[in-house]
Amino acid sequence: MIVAEGESGRAGAGAGDEGPVRIVVAGGSAAGLFASLLLARAGHEVTVLDRDPLDPAPDLESAAEDAFRAAAPQIVQPHAVLPLCRELLMQRLPDVYAALIAAGVAEAPLSTQMPPLMRDRSARPGDERLTMLMTRRSTMDWVLRRTAHAQPNLTVRGGVQVSGLLATAGQPPHVGGVSTDHGDVHADLVIDATGRRSPIDRWLAAIDATQTAVSEAECGVAYYSRHFRLRTTTDLPGPPTTRIVAGLDEFTVGIWGGDNATMLMAIAPLVEDKRFRAVADPAVFTAVARTVPVYAAWLDVMEPITPIYPMGGLHNTLRRLVVDRTPVATGLHALGDTVCTTNPTLGRGLALALQSAADLVEAIDQHGDRWADLAIALDEQVSDHVEPFYRDQADIDGQRLAMLRRAIFGVTSPQPEPTEPTEPTEARVTFAQLRTAAMHDPVVFRAFWQVMGMLSRPDDIYTDPAVIARTLDTIRDHDATPLIVQPSREALHAALATKTP
Ligand SMILES: Cc1cc2nc3c(=O)[nH]c(=O)nc-3n(C[C@H](O)[C@H](O)[C@H](O)COP(=O)(O)OP(=O)(O)OC[C@H]3O[C@@H](n4cnc5c(N)ncnc54)[C@H](O)[C@@H]3O)c2cc1C
Repeated sequence: MIVAEGESGRAGAGAGDEGPVRIVVAGGSAAGLFASLLLARAGHEVTVLDRDPLDPAPDLESAAEDAFRAAAPQIVQPHAVLPLCRELLMQRLPDVYAALIAAGVAEAPLSTQMPPLMRDRSARPGDERLTMLMTRRSTMDWVLRRTAHAQPNLTVRGGVQVSGLLATAGQPPHVGGVSTDHGDVHADLVIDATGRRSPIDRWLAAIDATQTAVSEAECGVAYYSRHFRLRTTTDLPGPPTTRIVAGLDEFTVGIWGGDNATMLMAIAPLVEDKRFRAVADPAVFTAVARTVPVYAAWLDVMEPITPIYPMGGLHNTLRRLVVDRTPVATGLHALGDTVCTTNPTLGRGLALALQSAADLVEAIDQHGDRWADLAIALDEQVSDHVEPFYRDQADIDGQRLAMLRRAIFGVTSPQPEPTEPTEPTEARVTFAQLRTAAMHDPVVFRAFWQVMGMLSRPDDIYTDPAVIARTLDTIRDHDATPLIVQPSREALHAALATKTP
């Protein structure tokens, strides 16, 4: 919707020093609440609008029971909080971090992710930073909602669906609020945090703005997951903070420790592999997971507490709101899954969302309502902090999908155009090489976790001469015996044919 000139905006305000910016955040999931909390604490007046009710449940187990939302179906899927996200929580939202720990979220020090073959298991300087948080996503959201509801300068309005942008015509148009099913809400700045299915381009078209520039790379997997609770605290096959994600020849399977003695498991086959549709049946899910001994051992000590949650429609996407150095609109920014989604098996979404929220606060502090400068600065932050992980994921997935298709269908599919060289060279190692060498060598293991934990840009690690030399030496010195025993095709087919008792 276009409103008359002057109806929106904060005419004449200067950078950072002329009072708070009135900000509307569309979407109150992780990205929306991270940003809202940080913005409110920086002194801005923030209103969060979400189409779903956002009142916190009375306790975290009720939150888990009611967690599924059609608008954000990933909330019930396994979520690890990677080291970058944990570190940003500790630095920027220490009360949220403390509340997560108080709620039973478990820290997973690097030592708990150490491969069994690693001989030198001694701690090294910097290991502390490479710690993950293990939680159900519903527990994370429960803590965020409780914190947001208690936060001064922050109004949370659930049950309000944003339907468009209020804007002043121009080249580009200037956004001054949103229209909703409960009336218009005016603001100096609108943040789109409506997630992977954001209607932002429809909203932009309605105000005669340029469309955003979206890059896409195939992710290609579907998720089937289930939550469990440990029956015992002793004689477990590994630490309860275990995270083992195995890219097998025909599918991916993973287990993640959660909060309060919960564990989450997922089977992630190729979308087009119809054999795996049967794993939506709990008996088949269990039978398939049991074909891999390490997961069978976990299944022996835990009880299912949810149905199977399937999820498809997963993509690697990167959206830019500045096209040809020009913002598509001023007074409008986006973060979280609206801007970037990546293959969930590497668990990068929450860290990207929190990093972008922190970048947003800093950019507003620096540029205030010089809206075009703000938009350009935020786009540069996307180049620095988001795009490297999107490109890395696109490359990793391109290689993995080609491998899966070869193994399953015997076809050599045309590989997606790699965005970076992916063959091993003297000047670069690949993610896959790093992962292989990380199983044996303590130095490469830490370099690998710098990428996994998002504490370094992937390319900085892949092109580090010391890492390259060590990785190639380690691969030469060790045979490529797989660490995880895989099922034969016959065993897999027998499991997939399991009949529900
Ligand atoms: C299977 C799976 C597993 C994942 N695992 C991990 C992991 O291990 N670690 C990790 O860090 N990340 C993981 N992610 C990514 C993570 O879930 C997201 O990055 C994260 O949820 C951030 O999302 P968001 O807040 O941007 O969007 P969403 O969580 O999608 O939230 C969007 C919000 O906007 C609201 N909304 C939508 N439209 C409107 C509208 N028109 N008006 C008002 N409100 C609206 C919705 O109700 C919703 O609350 C995973 C994702 C998937 C799919």
